[in-house]
Amino acid sequence: MFGLIGHLTSLEQACDVARSMGYEEYADQGLEFWSSAPPQIVDEITVTSATGKVIHGRYIESCFLPEMLAARRFKTATRKVLNAMSHAQKHGIDISALGGFTSIIFENFDLASLRQVRDTTLEFERFTTGNTHTAYIICKQVETSAQQLGLDLTQATIAVVGATGDIGSAVCRWLDRKLGVGDLILTARNQERLDNLQAELGRGKILPLEAALPEADIIVWVASMPQGVTIDPTTLKQPCVLIDGGYPKNLGSKVQGEGIYVLNGGVVEHCFDIDWQIMSAAEMARPERQMFACFAEAMLLEFEGWHTNFSWGRNQITIEKMEAIGEASRRHGFQPLALAI
Ligand code: NDP
Repeated sequence: MFGLIGHLTSLEQACDVARSMGYEEYADQGLEFWSSAPPQIVDEITVTSATGKVIHGRYIESCFLPEMLAARRFKTATRKVLNAMSHAQKHGIDISALGGFTSIIFENFDLASLRQVRDTTLEFERFTTGNTHTAYIICKQVETSAQQLGLDLTQATIAVVGATGDIGSAVCRWLDRKLGVGDLILTARNQERLDNLQAELGRGKILPLEAALPEADIIVWVASMPQGVTIDPTTLKQPCVLIDGGYPKNLGSKVQGEGIYVLNGGVVEHCFDIDWQIMSAAEMARPERQMFACFAEAMLLEFEGWHTNFSWGRNQITIEKMEAIGEASRRHGFQPLALAI
């Protein structure tokens, strides 16, 4: 049995979704209510692999909302993540993905040191961040969108916003070693981490956001921002591909302009319809088949019987692990979203 631990993108969306799923008592409530709401299993899921294997899973709504971070309710946010993990474990779920902000909260607040949740000792091998699969899918999206637009990656400039993060650093390693991209721009806020990444890669130009964007043919956006940012499309190259891998989507409003292509990053489509409701709330174009790559990682680990925390800790993702999960992803019928051109 696999699990997907998730959350909604805003209080407003949470109330709408609660109403549409028949949880009327949640639908008109404010942040205070959501702060005290316990985790809930709200979906039972069945997935069939391209190989014919059938697996079952559950979606666990953590009741965390990004507004809790904005309001500096850090204790509430950490409680939400730990309670959702404990809930999954108590329900016998073998492997659960920590979706959206839940894995970032886990790392940023060092929840590995808080293993005891009331009477439950968390077994971390039952959880994965899903970041290895996410990083792999984003790299494939870089490759295919370049092909679609006739860009030669060995001559192209790729900017990674959030380069020092778990996903960003893995993407940089792959772009360097597997794709041999022309120029690599590294963007984030903490200078020391940027210097360390540059030293590890032996390359990469460190630039602030405003200087990075106009230079890039492809922008990979994997920063952890509770709210999106708005960018001026007239400052971008033409063509320019923006692969928005953040959750919630980092590019707050739609970036539009001639020659500007925006792709939902870290999203996959399965070869068969999936029996679930929850992806309609994530505003996927084909909710019966599309999902975040981190959720798909939990499914892949279940399909393969790899009941282990495949993606865990920060900046530990290797090329070899990306290749292994990528192979499993193809075998079981998942495909990265491509540009609709
Ligand atoms: P991390 O916390 O490990 O890394 C975040 C990165 O963003 C760091 O490099 C951080 O560096 C940078 N960053 C944060 N704020 C800013 C800012 N204002 N400007 C520039 N850089 C910034 O996160 P992950 O790698 O785990 O996740 C990255 C994103 O991917 C998140 O939005 C997450 O929700 C999303 N995600 C998507 C998945 C999917 O399936 N599609 C799965 C998992 C995650 P610094 O702090 O120094 O600025």
